[in-house]
Amino acid sequence: LRANYAPYMNEKGDLDGIIVLFQDVTEYEKLENMRKEFVANVSHELKTPLTTIKSYTETLLEGAMENQELGKQFLNVIDNEADRMARLVRDLLQLSNADYQQTKWDKKEVDLNYIVEKAVLNLSVSAKNKEQELNYKGLREGVSVWADENRIEQVLLNVISNAIKYTANGGCIDVSLEETQNHATIKITDNGMGIPKEDLPRIFERFYRVDKARSREMGGTGLGLSIAKQIIDVHEGMIKVDSRESGGTAVLIELPLLQEKMCN
Ligand code: ADP
Repeated sequence: LRANYAPYMNEKGDLDGIIVLFQDVTEYEKLENMRKEFVANVSHELKTPLTTIKSYTETLLEGAMENQELGKQFLNVIDNEADRMARLVRDLLQLSNADYQQTKWDKKEVDLNYIVEKAVLNLSVSAKNKEQELNYKGLREGVSVWADENRIEQVLLNVISNAIKYTANGGCIDVSLEETQNHATIKITDNGMGIPKEDLPRIFERFYRVDKARSREMGGTGLGLSIAKQIIDVHEGMIKVDSRESGGTAVLIELPLLQEKMCN
């Protein structure tokens, strides 16, 4: 609680009382702390690859370049770290664009079946590289939703690529699309390493990662799921991550169906 005081004078100029204003600043302080934590996280995430790039470049300049084999190895590290920074900046821009509503959402009637199929196809090579099975069970007819196609595709790419990333070689990933009365439900399940129960409530927070080192190693920024949630929220949908009893992870995405105009 923050308090401000001001004297209250009568017409003669005598002190008549004191005005005390109490302000509840809990919410303000919470936001301020979140902002500080976010800036600290971004700085740290950018600093890590920069430090690596700098030290490898220095070693190259100090003579490591003379050994061609070693030089190439170092350049590869630098290239990977630069890629990581690019991914991070891309994800940050995506978050801030949507935050400030600067991007116009290009919403129109789209067929969800088509979008899910496209995302699955897009990632089938990554799954194949890990000898994983990536199955899609869609619907025969189109499923109409009012959505920004690219954004929803981005959500699916984030979630399905997580399933691929956090599932061992030879694992299995199932994607399905179902229609209930008012909603289209996309389910992405994998039989990978799963997420510990205690981490589930925080999984959509920016930069939250169950295993920071492992996620980094796999090219993760810790922003994929928060971006997914932000996009789904704008579509008035719901996204939920759960552990499967049999092990592995299940992600559920619900989007409102585009209702046909009813007569009467
Ligand atoms: P990242 O870029 O690190 O993958 P995300 O925001 O996409 O970040 O995911 C946050 C964290 O949630 C990941 O670091 C990982 O620990 C965990 N996670 C997400 N999806 C899965 C999954 N399918 N299986 C296991 N863990 C997952």
